[in-house]
Amino acid sequence: MTTVRATFDSLNPATDEVVGTHPIHDADHVHAVVAAARSAAEWWAGLGFAGRADRLRQWKTVLTRRAAELAALVHEENGKPVADAMLEINLAIDHTEWAARHAPKVLGRRRRSSGLLMFNQTVTVEYLPLGVVGVIGPWNYPVFTPMGSIAYALAAGNAVVFKPSEYTPGVGKWLADTFASVVPEHPVFQVITGYGETGAALCRSGVSKIAFTGSPGTGKKIMAACAETLTPVLIEAGGKDALLVDADADVAAAADAAVWGGISNSGQTCIGIERVYVHESVYDEFVSQVVEKARGVRPGKDIGPITMPSQVEIIRRHISDALSRGARALIGGTDDGRFVEPTVLVDVPEDAPAVREETFGPTLTIAKVSSMDEAITKANATTYGLGGSVFSRSQGPALARRLRSGMVAVNSVISFAGVPALPFGGVGDSGFGRIHGPEGLREFGRPQSVTRQRFRAPLTLTTFSRTEKTDARFAKLISLLHGRSH
Ligand code: NAD
Repeated sequence: MTTVRATFDSLNPATDEVVGTHPIHDADHVHAVVAAARSAAEWWAGLGFAGRADRLRQWKTVLTRRAAELAALVHEENGKPVADAMLEINLAIDHTEWAARHAPKVLGRRRRSSGLLMFNQTVTVEYLPLGVVGVIGPWNYPVFTPMGSIAYALAAGNAVVFKPSEYTPGVGKWLADTFASVVPEHPVFQVITGYGETGAALCRSGVSKIAFTGSPGTGKKIMAACAETLTPVLIEAGGKDALLVDADADVAAAADAAVWGGISNSGQTCIGIERVYVHESVYDEFVSQVVEKARGVRPGKDIGPITMPSQVEIIRRHISDALSRGARALIGGTDDGRFVEPTVLVDVPEDAPAVREETFGPTLTIAKVSSMDEAITKANATTYGLGGSVFSRSQGPALARRLRSGMVAVNSVISFAGVPALPFGGVGDSGFGRIHGPEGLREFGRPQSVTRQRFRAPLTLTTFSRTEKTDARFAKLISLLHGRSH
C-alpha cells in the first residue's frame, strides 16, 4: 500500500467541530485496495451461500448490539437526530438478514425449460459473483443507503470497496471495521476515503461494477469514467417525489404523511416528498392540517441542520424565487444558518425551481388540482422518477400505476424502503438499476447459462456433417411449429 499523507476532516454540521480526520486516498492506493479485494473475493465466493450468510449474520448481530454507538456517529457526522439514525440502522440490519437469507434462492442454480428444439439438453442458470464491487455513497442516509448495495453485493459473493461521502467517512469506516471483526481472514469489505477524485479512481480501478448513490450530475461523471473500461454502473440518483391526495382520501393521514415525508431528515431524503397535489374538494382542510402539524416540528430537536453548507443556499434560492413569483409561505421560509425552518409553500408556479428541481430541504409545495388526471400529469412533469405517494380510498393502486416512478406508497409514505423484498430505484434523472429485493441481489451477479447434453438429438444441427436431409427436416419442423396462420 502507498503511504497516504493528505487528510481531510469530517465536521459536525451543527457545530463545525472536527469529528474525525481521514486519509485522502489517491489512485495508487485505490488500485492496491482493489487488487487486495480481488483475491479476497475468491475466498469469499468460495465460502458459498451458507458460509457467507453465517458471517453476514454475525455482522448483523454486531450492528444490532452496537447500534447506539453507530447512531451517535451518524448524528455527529450527518446532524440528524439520534432516533432517526437508529431508524435507518435498524432498517439496514433487517435488509442484511433478508439479503443473506434469500441469496441462495434468488441466485443459486435453477433449471429452466430447454424447449422443443433442444429437448436433449438439461439447462440451468445461476448468478455467479461479479468479483469486486465498488460502492460510492452519499451522506444523507450514510448507513441505510450504501448498505442497500454493500449487504446485497456481499451476500451475492462479491468483495466490496466502499467510498463513503466526504461528509460521513467515519460511518463508512465504522461499517468496514465491524465487518472485519467478523471476517478477519481477508479484506472482503474495505473502505477508501476522500473526495470525488477518490471515487473517480475507484471507477477506473478495474472493479467489476460500480453501485453509485448520489446526485444525477455526479452520476453522469461516474458513467463517463466507467465508460472508459466498460465497467457497468447502477445509478441511484435524486428525486422530486410527489404526494397525491384524492377527494376521498383520509385527509389527516395524508397531511401527517406529507409533513413527515417532506420534513423529516430536514428534507434531505432522496425519496422525500417535495411536492403535493391535492384535489380541490379537500384542499383547504389538507393545507390547514399540514400547517398545523409542520408547526410542531422543531429545528434542532425533531430535525437536524442541513448537512452540506452549500445546500442552504439552494434551499434559500428555491424559496425566494417562489415567493418572488407570487407564492406564499404559510409557515417557514427562513433559516437560522444551517437550521432551516419547516416551510410550506402554496401558489408556486409549476415551472419554478421549487417544483422542478430537487430542493433537499424541509420544504413542501402544495398545489390545488381539479381532478386526479391533472394531479398525475403535474406529478409526472419532471425529469426525475424515483418514488411517490398516493392517498385515495377508492383508486390508490390505479393512480399509483400512472405515476412515472420506480416506487409508490399507497395511503402511506416511504414504506417501500422498509420492505427488503421490494426493488428500490428509479427512472430518468433518478437513475437505473435496482438495489434491494431479488432484483437488487441479481444486480451483483453474473447470470451464467449452462446447457448439458443428455443424449444425441435425432437432428444434430451444430456439425459440419449435417446433411441436406437434416436441414429439410429442421425447416419442416419450424414451419409446423411457427408457420400456421393464427
Ligand atoms: P454527490 O453526488 O455529491 O456525492 C455522492 C458520492 O459521489 C460521494 O461519495 C462523492 O464523494 C462521490 N463523487 C463526487 N464526485 C465524484 C466523481 N467525479 N467520481 C466519483 N465519485 C464522485 O451526492 P450527495 O450530495 O452525497 O448525496 C445527495 C444526493 O444523493 C441527492 O441527489 C439524493 O437524492 C441522492 N440520493 C439518492 C438515493 C437513491 O437511492 N436514489 C439515496 C440517497 C441519496
